[in-house]
Amino acid sequence: NLPVVIVGAGHAGGRCAERLRHFGWQGNIILVGDEPCLPYERPPLSKAVLVEEVEPSPSFVIDRDMLAALAIEHVAGQVVRSIDLRNGTVCLADERQIGYGKLVLATGLTPRRLPMLDVLGSRVCYLHKLEEARALRDAIKTGAKLLIVGAGFIGLEVAASARKLGAEVTVIEAAPQPLGRVLPARMANLITERHESAGIKILCNEAMDEIVQTPERISITLRSGETIHPDLVLVGIGGTPNDALARSAGLHVDNGIVVDDHCRTSDPDVYAIGDVASHRNPHYDRRWRLESWMNAEEMASNAARAICNQPPNEASVPYFWTDQFERRYQIAGLLEPKAEIYEQGVAGESGYLACFVVDGRMRGLFGINAGKAFRKAQNLFRGGAVAGRDELRGAGFLAACEPA
Ligand code: FAD
Repeated sequence: NLPVVIVGAGHAGGRCAERLRHFGWQGNIILVGDEPCLPYERPPLSKAVLVEEVEPSPSFVIDRDMLAALAIEHVAGQVVRSIDLRNGTVCLADERQIGYGKLVLATGLTPRRLPMLDVLGSRVCYLHKLEEARALRDAIKTGAKLLIVGAGFIGLEVAASARKLGAEVTVIEAAPQPLGRVLPARMANLITERHESAGIKILCNEAMDEIVQTPERISITLRSGETIHPDLVLVGIGGTPNDALARSAGLHVDNGIVVDDHCRTSDPDVYAIGDVASHRNPHYDRRWRLESWMNAEEMASNAARAICNQPPNEASVPYFWTDQFERRYQIAGLLEPKAEIYEQGVAGESGYLACFVVDGRMRGLFGINAGKAFRKAQNLFRGGAVAGRDELRGAGFLAACEPA
């Protein structure tokens, strides 16, 4: 029986290895990753790892005892260089060839770089790996001046963490609005108002024109003409899927590795999961690549199910959370700008919940520290809830423009 080989020992790869045993895979499992450590979860990297007084140990998806108990072989610190679909083998950087029966690609993404900042050497950082989080932790000291390029989730999470540590933080964003790719302006404002109240400066429609570094200081001139002098720059401008390996093997790739409802690629023996996989969501009838913890969990489980000939889980509604300051923001589904918004609680405060309705159906949810109420409303999605005005009123929601 040829093994299941998993390429990428991050969240989805580690979880898939564990799930394969759970669903009854009896053969060998080989998990190959280029990082030197065990598979770990990334959400703490922009939060607890930066702010806790004593750095927490990584939150491992699978630890040494589990690897041994589940008889999973973990090959760490090895890049997979190529895949030969015809012969069913992968080739590692050290020239080793491994044959597979089934192959799972869980290669994640690479943060987009800004080459113009390379002149800053160690004073420019990116945040995706544990060692990058540790370097950032060491660099953000009380009173440090931090410039964050990109007001996406990672940029704003780091801004909140750095501010908590006393850093002076400026965020620049090229778009007219922070979080513009994922949130309507009303919700994005609720998040950034909290940042601004904590003294974080957020500048939109902004870019860097000139960067000068002397031994004494960094000078960055912005498009608006303002010059700032940060001690450190963090770039958080999104990432690109690590799909080159799949593309050069001949698999169908289109902004990520294209998979079906069973996480299967254009080759029936090859699966793709997590941040790198482009899949269709039946609730929204669209194809997307989701970069979230929950998606890594669910796709890992579904690929393991498919390999073990089990039916897939019922497709769920995409879910994401982000912790910034004392708040947990939760997002489910799609927050479409054209949606009618119904609300519970006070906008911008704990317990606030906004329900996005399109053509009388619930399409998205946004909550601030909304805990149980969020989960309750989320369950309505699963039944494809029709959300007329009366049903929503009955559930305690009011239209956003209606007087309370
Ligand atoms: P990864 O966990 O990135 O794993 C991919 C692995 O594959 C990496 O180890 C990579 O080095 C390896 N690899 C790539 N190519 C090769 C190769 N050729 N050979 C060998 N190995 C290879 N999500 C939320 O829902 N909420 C949050 O609050 C949140 N916070 C986040 C904070 C940060 C700082 C980051 C970076 C992500 C956060 N996420 C959050 C997103 C979530 O962590 C990711 O969606 C999840 O890690 C995706 O898992 P993955 O296995 O697809 O990719």
